[in-house]
Parts: sequence; structure tokens; C-alpha cells
Amino acid sequence: MQGWPVWLASISYRDRSGHLIPASAWGGDRLADAQRWLMRLLTGLGDPTRERFFRMQITACLHRAISQREYDRLPEWWHTCELRDLAGGPVEVFWHRGIPDAPSTRPCANPGREVIDPRDDRLWLPIDCGSCESCQARATVRPRAGGRELGNLAPPTRSGREQASR
Ligand SMILES: [Zn+2]
Repeated sequence: MQGWPVWLASISYRDRSGHLIPASAWGGDRLADAQRWLMRLLTGLGDPTRERFFRMQITACLHRAISQREYDRLPEWWHTCELRDLAGGPVEVFWHRGIPDAPSTRPCANPGREVIDPRDDRLWLPIDCGSCESCQARATVRPRAGGRELGNLAPPTRSGREQASR
């Protein structure tokens, strides 16, 4: 939300054996259920006119801008502390409202894959390629991180790609 703090609520599902169910396999009913739970979780928080609903590989996530009242109550250190990390891109954005469709919030066009669970090749963390439009947009935040190298902005390593192809 272009630097404006957000609330983040995430949800994942497991099967009867306790294994994570990939978000790509949820289907419409479960996705709708996830959205309802996330909306319910953030009831009374933030500005519901400024939201983004998206998924990663094991979670559906709701970003909601904090309200002006919440912003005014942030402690001083919030505004002066060093940026320590930056999230990578989403896997899929379902919808957004009240906020611009900024390239930095879109999925990487060619993500590397970090395996989460070798038993299921649908469970992987996207690793930004570093060169597509959305990755380049996220990289503009790097100088604000005090020159520290941000691991999730680095191009995928050869071994990371090989790991994903196994
Ligand atoms: Zn990329």
C-alpha cells in the first residue's frame, strides 16, 4: 500500500493427516471460506475500503491498510526504525480495492522455487527473479533498507532452481 502500514491476516488448511493443502488446490468454496475467516478476523481493524486479497502457496492472505486513527497511534520508533526485511511478491492476487495496482504488489513473472515440503511439489515459496517488472519495483525499496542485502530480493540461485525441478 505504497508504504502505508497494513494489517496482515493469513490462513492455511491441513488435510486429515495434518499435511498442508496447497492453496492452488482449494477450489472456490474453500477460497470463499478463507476470505470469510480473514474478514472476520480483521473485523473492527484498519480501513476495509483499502484491501488486497491474495494467496501464496500455502496461505490466503488479506492485507488491510491501517486506519488513520491507528496510524496516529503508532509509536515514534515505528517511523524511525530501520527497515529490516521486505516480503516477496504474492503468487496470485485475487482482488484489491481502494489501492493502486502497483507493480510491486504483483507476482514475480518468473519466480524461483524454494521447496516447503518435498512430498508435494505444489508447496514452494516463490523467490523473486529480481529482473521482472514487479521484482524491479520491489527492489526500489532496497535503498530504504539501509543498504542491507535482502535475501528475498536476490535472484534465485542455480541450486534453488535445480531444487525446484527435482
Ligand atoms: Zn520477478
